[in-house]
Amino acid sequence: MIMTRTIEDIREDFPILSRKIKGKDLVYLDNGATTQKPLQVIRAVEEFYRNENSNIHRGVHTLSQEATTKYEKARELTRDFIGAKNSNEIIFTKGTTDSINLLANSFAKQFLKKGDEVIVSAMEHHSNIVPWQMVCEERGANLKVLPINKKGELLIEELESLISPNTKIIAVNHISNTLGTINPIERIISIAHKHNVKVLIDAAQSIAHTPINVQELDVDFLAFSGHKMFAPTGVGVLYGKEELLNELPPYQGGGDMIKEVTFEKTTYNCLPHKFEAGTPNIVGGIGLGEAIKYIRSVGFETIEHQEKELLEYATQELLTIEGLRIIGTAEHKTSVISFVFDDVHPFDVGTIIDQLGIAVRTGHHCTQPLMQFFEIPGTIRASFAFYNTKEEVDKLVNGVNRALRMLR
Ligand code: PMP
Repeated sequence: MIMTRTIEDIREDFPILSRKIKGKDLVYLDNGATTQKPLQVIRAVEEFYRNENSNIHRGVHTLSQEATTKYEKARELTRDFIGAKNSNEIIFTKGTTDSINLLANSFAKQFLKKGDEVIVSAMEHHSNIVPWQMVCEERGANLKVLPINKKGELLIEELESLISPNTKIIAVNHISNTLGTINPIERIISIAHKHNVKVLIDAAQSIAHTPINVQELDVDFLAFSGHKMFAPTGVGVLYGKEELLNELPPYQGGGDMIKEVTFEKTTYNCLPHKFEAGTPNIVGGIGLGEAIKYIRSVGFETIEHQEKELLEYATQELLTIEGLRIIGTAEHKTSVISFVFDDVHPFDVGTIIDQLGIAVRTGHHCTQPLMQFFEIPGTIRASFAFYNTKEEVDKLVNGVNRALRMLR
């Protein structure tokens, strides 16, 4: 395939990638937790605070109007990026967790009653389990779990029998942050809709790695975080179909979400403001818009090609390490590799390779039920972005081998 820019060239956009950690070149393989930020995003944040800072939506003065225009432009860029019909369907939140809490609370108020059911999968992040568990408890509803196999794939053939006339929503991730499994969301959505069940897709781990079109998917709700797609922390998105969002009650009360307030009664603003109480993360939203432009300038073709090569190479090289077992061997996988050793604790490996400048994540990755399923305390997880290189994979493999020599 033809790449317009080399990876070495693209890496120059990310100043942190040339940092030294303990005297060594940083090898950043924790992109599942958060991605690094390109200069385009960093500059947009700086420019906003230097020249444009103002609160949005209510000001008549120039600065406020400029800030509002930029923020709303970011909403439009986001709409276009995920193929939504209307920018009213893009609710800015603090991130995936905030998006799911908003939806769970609002959806439960409107649609969940005693005896109803919510289905999640066995490979969800805590943020797509706990909010649903909390609202189910409040409403007397039941949380059901779609199981997985030992490769870390959903038992999709069991979904239909799990759905009952009481099932109201299925909440499932697109890509597992621990296993790297790419889930068959098209199939899940089509099965759910056949039974008149709504679907939330947690796209936290997919949004920066693969193109998503909400209209083609016909998904009801989609949640993702800016910081996992090269944008600042503290901003994220809840997408919902307009007709559904219109049916849902507000989540939080405050400024901007109202039409009229009296002590007797408050009427609510239209979408998306109904769900955006208070001053939002203005610069975060603007940064998200820049990140979207950045992703587009690199292109998903380059991103997917690069990450596939990294996944294949890293899998092959890691498997040369004695006693290494990969957790998550699904047929359809993205560039996330979790691995364990029977005789060495993940935390010890992570700590030693940090001395070599290598950043990986160790632990349960906010997926404790998955750890229980695999009967392990945690994993070592390397998660790649398109700016990673095969040389970095080699450093990881050498680093892990060195740690094992010390620990065994
Ligand atoms: N879902 C998945 C699949 C994730 O990987 C994460 C972050 N690790 C989240 C939800 C939560 O995202 P955030 O912490 O940005 O709210």
